[in-house]
Amino acid sequence: MKSQEPRSDGEQVIVDSSKLTFGTKRFGELLLEDGVISEDDLIAALERQRSTGERLGEALVNAGVATEREIARALARQLDLSVFDLGRINEADPEDVLTIPEAMARKYHAVAFAKEGRTLSVAMADPLDLLAIDDIRGATRCELRIEVGCRVDIDDAIGRAYQSATAGAHFEEAIEGAKLELGVTDTRYDEIDEQELRSKAADAPIVRLVDLILAQAIAERATDIHIEPLTDRVVVRYRIDGVLYDTLTPPKRFRDAIMVRIKILSDMDVAERRIPLDGRFTARFENRDIDVRVSSLPTVYGEKMALRLLDRSAFAGDIAKLGFGPETLTAFRSALLKPYGMVLISGPTGSGKSTTLYSGLSELNRNACNITTLEDPVEYHLERINQVNINNKAGMTFARGLRALLRQDPDIIMIGEVRDLETAELAIRSALTGHLVLSTVHANDSASTLTRLIDMGIEPYLVTSAVHLVMAQRLVRRVCPDCRTSYEPDQLALESLGRERFEGVEFTRGVGCKQCKGRGYRGRVGLYELLEVTPELVQLVLENSSAGVLKAKAVEQGLVTLKESAVRKVLDGTTTVEEVLAIASES
Ligand SMILES: [Zn+2]
Repeated sequence: MKSQEPRSDGEQVIVDSSKLTFGTKRFGELLLEDGVISEDDLIAALERQRSTGERLGEALVNAGVATEREIARALARQLDLSVFDLGRINEADPEDVLTIPEAMARKYHAVAFAKEGRTLSVAMADPLDLLAIDDIRGATRCELRIEVGCRVDIDDAIGRAYQSATAGAHFEEAIEGAKLELGVTDTRYDEIDEQELRSKAADAPIVRLVDLILAQAIAERATDIHIEPLTDRVVVRYRIDGVLYDTLTPPKRFRDAIMVRIKILSDMDVAERRIPLDGRFTARFENRDIDVRVSSLPTVYGEKMALRLLDRSAFAGDIAKLGFGPETLTAFRSALLKPYGMVLISGPTGSGKSTTLYSGLSELNRNACNITTLEDPVEYHLERINQVNINNKAGMTFARGLRALLRQDPDIIMIGEVRDLETAELAIRSALTGHLVLSTVHANDSASTLTRLIDMGIEPYLVTSAVHLVMAQRLVRRVCPDCRTSYEPDQLALESLGRERFEGVEFTRGVGCKQCKGRGYRGRVGLYELLEVTPELVQLVLENSSAGVLKAKAVEQGLVTLKESAVRKVLDGTTTVEEVLAIASES
């Protein structure tokens, strides 16, 4: 008996049982045919299988000769099932997804993505798990149409599907139940808020909805909120730990009202929808002051809003908490204790550079000295530090601010970013005349931070005399401590990190739980590449050597590269192979 196609006649769908018994040989042959494995691989895996009792697919993945995805594809072919397309989960009706209880979905690595009558389409990592199939069938009272997906994809789908399904299902309820805990300090808001509430009672749900969007984002530590119009609905997404997640999907009829509400809050022109606008407001939530910077963008479906949330009180200011290794911590601290010179941090936007600089500043703040910052914009407010906002429109540039600041008897100067020659020159001169200067530069790694300054037009000898320390950094997500479990990473991914480093290592990832909202990650940790400017490096810089040559020398002298830092965080189970892949491929 064999039937994987959806049926409407009430007959149960099961997987061909003869293939379960005799499938192994054919499965191996399929992989051979596809060129995924060699005959030797197959023989070795079959032998391994005999001693471990694993499935052939597992044995091949564990031996590192096939990936989970290749196995899933071959399994689908063998069983005449379709391969699950992860994208389909985004179009799934939340009600269909919720047909399988979340706990059961996670237990069996199975996710429902469509339902027609009593036929439920389910993607499974292991379509041969008859116990799982029975259980799901019993719980849902549906016939199953099964597709095959690899475990990573399915778990990803489960995380996404239940997250947005739950949000969607409780949507109306959430609007009704949202308590107005949000106190906005902007006076104009109060005015309009009152006016609105008085004259337009009908708008109350919109006010509550926008409050809910903000309050939930703040509660979840989101750094950004995106409100995007689609043809038929509005999608609200939060960026949490660097990744965007769908949350609410309000119906289209709410679209204009939501946008107008946010525009009123942030003092933007309500009538203007054709050009990009920006504005801001402040929110107080559970004793935390949040700066909200709003920008709008006219898209083909209407205006899109991006809200950046800056939690001015969130900053703890402890260098020890940044996740430095012991040598990095010592070197960073000693550079900060020098009375003059430059400390440069590099990395892309969102790599935690500001946090590192602020942590350094708050440590220095214990001493009796005058600390002044130039920032674009000021992100966190620090006690007893003079913080200045850059405002290019008003002519308050980094260079101009720096000139003014130097007349203010500073000891320590923090410059948000060095991005032009004038600022670079002023910063270098300050560092050479008895000031400690902290700043950031846009560069890929530590060595190219030095060459970047020279490319801007600074003489190499000035760079080497001013700069004491350069640090490149990235942020990666931390495995959720509440649902961590061992797993087998994608073999290709492992290859790019250097497989030999991981011999016999047990890899860790989060399977998703309530604490991490099914994401498997909670919070982020920094990866650092700290380069001390040694006499040998000074010589190479003076000879105008390339960043590559500088880096090779530094590695010879014991530089812990970003990639090495990533490998270490995988080895100690802080993060996953997949999470550091981008960093590994950079180098
Ligand atoms: Zn978790």
